[in-house]
Amino acid sequence: MNDDNSRDLYERALSVMPGGVNSAVRAAIEPYPFFVQKGDGGHVVDADGNRYIDWVMGLGPLLLGHDLPEQVQASIQQKASEGPIYGTPTEIEVDLAEFVVRHVPSVEKVRFVNSGTEATTSAVRLARGYTGRNKIVVNQGGYHGAQESTLVEGDHENPAPSSAGVPQSFAEHTLPVPFNDEEAVREVFEEHGDDIAAVMTEPILGNYGIVEPAEGYHEFLREITEEHGSLLIFDEVITGFRVGGLGCAQSEFGITPDITTFGKIVGGGFPVGAIGGRAEIIEQFAPSGPVFQAGTFSGHPVTMAAGLETLKFAAANDVYDHVNDLGDQLRGGLEEIVADQAPEYTVAGTDSMFKVIFTRDGEAPTNAADVQNAETDRWRRVFWGQMKDQNVFLSQNQFECQFVSYNHTEDDVERTLEAYKDAL
Ligand SMILES: *Cc1c(COP(=O)(O)O)cnc(C)c1O
Repeated sequence: MNDDNSRDLYERALSVMPGGVNSAVRAAIEPYPFFVQKGDGGHVVDADGNRYIDWVMGLGPLLLGHDLPEQVQASIQQKASEGPIYGTPTEIEVDLAEFVVRHVPSVEKVRFVNSGTEATTSAVRLARGYTGRNKIVVNQGGYHGAQESTLVEGDHENPAPSSAGVPQSFAEHTLPVPFNDEEAVREVFEEHGDDIAAVMTEPILGNYGIVEPAEGYHEFLREITEEHGSLLIFDEVITGFRVGGLGCAQSEFGITPDITTFGKIVGGGFPVGAIGGRAEIIEQFAPSGPVFQAGTFSGHPVTMAAGLETLKFAAANDVYDHVNDLGDQLRGGLEEIVADQAPEYTVAGTDSMFKVIFTRDGEAPTNAADVQNAETDRWRRVFWGQMKDQNVFLSQNQFECQFVSYNHTEDDVERTLEAYKDAL
């Protein structure tokens, strides 16, 4: 497979961009990532003209795939051509807010921002402002964006910055516990209960190989936060409008979080984030409340149009049936291949999310430590390239999950299963 153009582009990029990329994970592909020229349905075409079946889908935002339906395209074009932004509100922000409030059970009010990171940053500030407390509990292996309060590793007794540039004194306000470990959560509440502003969790770990919550884990988090006057924040940046359809993962699990963060799909492929929840809490944001929050680009008309028309299209068509059916076909096919060729591996995922994790210790991984122990080097350095050589584009490493879009077909699924059969 010729990749001369990608190599030349990467060389140019290296001289002007750190690591040659604008988001760290993109450089996980070695020796260099391929540069995409354009999307086409469920596929992408790279700078050398190679075509791949694309299961990365922008790392989550593209529910419909690369070919946007006419009405989505038209609305985006119209907003772009009317002049990008105004510094004063527009109707389409209200339309998308109404749509989100109507469909997501726990959301009475919503504030739009420009990225998932901005959403979780604002949600943490909001939880602290609302409760007057300092600490937040997070799950090891959960990802909440590139922000100071969550770039923290270790455990609740020894939290430490996971990135240079984050002061230890910030990290001390973040308490990491293993996913699915009720005992650890009880312990942090015993020790810090009256200073815990919130527990923030992904409903399903989607940035760490896909790990599902154990039966009762979210109910337990809901109860213990209520008991202690802390808030429960669901970070649905990945799962929002993907798992559980328009009601999001919270409706699937039957849990009512106090605050929900959104991103990815709700912007229809454009930069977006959102913080939603109980009116009384969300109204603590300025100007109705004392928690400062603002953004020049927030509620951008092009983003709002792309998000609203994408979600309206999903509401009016068989989008979720299609992507979830293909997800079932993929996971079913993969389970057969794995049982046959790699019984020590796990097929993970639900709805339109899927991943083969290169480990299994009797049962599927239940937390980040299990996934950390997987054959991550084999996944990234050997397996990923074998799939690419067969024109299948998977996410860059063992940890990021993969997505089915409305543009994918049964033929894409079959060809992908053949490739896995060959590579595993
Ligand atoms: C992607 C992601 C984020 C960060 O969103 P960005 O738009 O990349 O800043 C936060 N939380 C979760 C669960 C995510 O998957």
